[in-house]
Order: sequence, then C-alpha cells, then structure tokens
Amino acid sequence: MPCPNGIHCECARRITSFDVLEHAFVMRHWVPRFVRIKYQCPACGKIDEVTLDFKHWRPSILTPCLEDGLDDERERIAQLGPIDLDEIALFRADLGQLTGAQLLKTLEQV
Ligand SMILES: [Zn+2]
Repeated sequence: MPCPNGIHCECARRITSFDVLEHAFVMRHWVPRFVRIKYQCPACGKIDEVTLDFKHWRPSILTPCLEDGLDDERERIAQLGPIDLDEIALFRADLGQLTGAQLLKTLEQV
C-alpha cells in the first residue's frame, strides 16, 4: 500500500528527499508563500517541478516511506532463504576475529 501523502511522479513513483535537485521557498512580503521542489524521478528519470502552497508544506512530504519498496525487500529476503547454521557459525567466527576498531568501522558502514 503506497503512502497517501507526498509528491508523486507521473509514473506514480513517490518522490523523496534523495530525488530532490532544488528546493526553494518563494517569499512574498518576507513570508514564505510557496515551496518549489525540482526533482528527478529515480524510476523513469524524468525531471519535473512542483509548487506547493506553504500552508500544506511538511518536511515529512519528502521523507522516505517505510511502505515504499517493502514488497521488493520481502521478495529479496524470500529469495535469500533462511539463514542456516553454517552461515551463523561463519559469521560468529568472522566476528570473533574483528578488533574493536574494525567492528566500529563495519558498523558505521551499515
Ligand atoms: Zn517517474
């Protein structure tokens, strides 16, 4: 189920902050009146622009939705299959060989 709020491309892909090329507030008499967002759709590559009334603007409009891509992620995890005991033992052995600094570096990359 797609997120109900947000900006959507013509191809129905939801636009998030990662896709924004330009973000500007249009001022009138020193008060923000509109929000202009220029984006490139990651699905179809189209570059487009929307202008929203500032009254309706919320930063969460561009926040990635947890529902987006969930079906793809479920399918990917299903294809990986269950984690078997050999994989757990290998992970534990690799984890035991890491130093504290290497472990922190690895966790920062996740
Ligand atoms: Zn698109």
